[in-house]
Amino acid sequence: MSINQGTASTVDAVIVGAGFSGLYLLHRLRGLGFSTRVFEAGGDVGGTWYWNRYPGCRCDVESLQYSYSFSEELQQERNWPERFSAQPDILKYANHVADRFDLRRDIQFETTVTRAHFDAARRRWSVETDTGENIAARFLIMATGCISTAQIPDFDGLSDFAGETYHTGNWPHEGVDFTGRRIAVIGTGSSGIQAIPVLATQAEHVTVFQRTPNYSLPCQNGPITDEYARSWKDNYAALREEQRHTAKGNIRELNNESALAVTQERRAEMYQKRWAIGGAGFLSSFNDLLVDRAANETAAEFVRTQIRSIVRHPATAELLVAKDYPIGTKRICIDSGYFETFNRDNVALVDVADTPIERITPGGLVVDGRSFEFDAIVFATGFDAMTGTLFKVDIQGRGGATLRDKWAAGPRTYLGLMTRDFPNLFMITGPGSPSVLSNMMVSIEQHVDWVTESLVHMRAENLELMEPTLKAEDDWVEHVNVVAHKTLFPLAASWYMGANIPGKPRIFMPYIGGVGTYRSICEAVVADGYRGFAFDAGAARVAAAE
Ligand code: NAP
Repeated sequence: MSINQGTASTVDAVIVGAGFSGLYLLHRLRGLGFSTRVFEAGGDVGGTWYWNRYPGCRCDVESLQYSYSFSEELQQERNWPERFSAQPDILKYANHVADRFDLRRDIQFETTVTRAHFDAARRRWSVETDTGENIAARFLIMATGCISTAQIPDFDGLSDFAGETYHTGNWPHEGVDFTGRRIAVIGTGSSGIQAIPVLATQAEHVTVFQRTPNYSLPCQNGPITDEYARSWKDNYAALREEQRHTAKGNIRELNNESALAVTQERRAEMYQKRWAIGGAGFLSSFNDLLVDRAANETAAEFVRTQIRSIVRHPATAELLVAKDYPIGTKRICIDSGYFETFNRDNVALVDVADTPIERITPGGLVVDGRSFEFDAIVFATGFDAMTGTLFKVDIQGRGGATLRDKWAAGPRTYLGLMTRDFPNLFMITGPGSPSVLSNMMVSIEQHVDWVTESLVHMRAENLELMEPTLKAEDDWVEHVNVVAHKTLFPLAASWYMGANIPGKPRIFMPYIGGVGTYRSICEAVVADGYRGFAFDAGAARVAAAE
């Protein structure tokens, strides 16, 4: 039974976002009898896969693993064409899920939540949208994704450019025809590295502006054979359970050897084998690649050698080789022919590490006094990750405290799920949870299940409000930090660290303890009577107890 009756302006739960988190949340909450409204800024479902439509966009987790496990029928009936799915196939899947579970009727598209204030007197969240709606909700659940606020650096002269500009994270739905055009691509992270090989086949000329070279591994994508699909589908229950207890939410072959304990030949053989298999499994070649600098260097050097053997022009190859940070400590990129693209006559690489882009001009841009002319600029310049989208909403908790102020020195959460002084505000894959370091589907399902079960618990126990204790939150923030510093990750200026946004605190935001370990912690917290959370039973209960 619903806590509220679900009138137009009052619901049990408001969900912000209709990506994979929001869709599953809605399905679960509706099934449990909670009245729910979803607000989605986009025109349809899909979240990151709705916005990121740039050419070459593809998931770097295998399709049979990057999909929901909550419905046996859904996972059995889905036929994934490729080992690593292209964006249109994932978006089709999100649409299929929305239709199959009849989710659209509770989702309001093209509606951005602008404000959410906790009303202490009514014990409700008061939520406002850019369409002028005002709705009260007992629970506010941010399913806004971790990488959803596209970022274009504040280049001088940006608005003067006379040609077209695009950001990979906000790509036109109708696509772009670059035939016969000269384009600039700024940025060589995962998005740029996926887009550049495809753009190079379309445009007359592509100039890539690179500030930091990235390590990238070949995807080795291909069609999924019936036999391979069967090997998963016949064993899905067991394999999904195994996924949930892995470090990254992915099943991949592990090797419990140190890279430093084996011979050079064995190392080379292992790296070669994993390179040929493709994907991020390369980083699991040995057990110490992300914790030991010397071990890491063996893998990094292997990748550098590969790049030098692919790229024909030695000076270009040298620019493309990452040397200043350990492999894997910036999000590893997975590509389809990225380095080979620099052998094309219509592709040029410009290093802007020491000589930044000076300004954008009406005709192009200037670097180190040298002018470049373009018809279009593609910004592959990333996102204000993990906190940017949460801060875009004016979220005020108890006593009018804003989330932005509370997190001014870095995000503070308990388990990445809740933050103190913001009662009944939940985050799906929030900072302080494995989130972006994991197969997001596995982390999303775990968070949605945990949150919905907490709501059921509160309903059963007549509890009105839930939030972390100060100590639990402080201890978790400390733990997230301590665990991160046992690894090599803090050595890189990455978006995990907030380093891509000027003025953003340098804090390692996701929890690196592993998906399986994290799940066990969340389960133990519940088994221990929601250790670290405080509940408020509300006036009625207090009166009854007197
Ligand atoms: P990103 O990794 O943050 O890369 C942004 C790029 O823009 C970097 O090369 C950065 O250089 C460059 N840049 C930023 N400001 C610049 C400036 N002022 N001048 C020159 N260059 C500048 O962003 P992304 O590629 O969009 O990827 C973000 C994340 O989304 C990924 O790490 C991944 O988690 C996810 N993603 C996943 C997939 C996939 O599943 N395959 C695909 C795309 C994205 P610096 O490195 O020097 O800062």
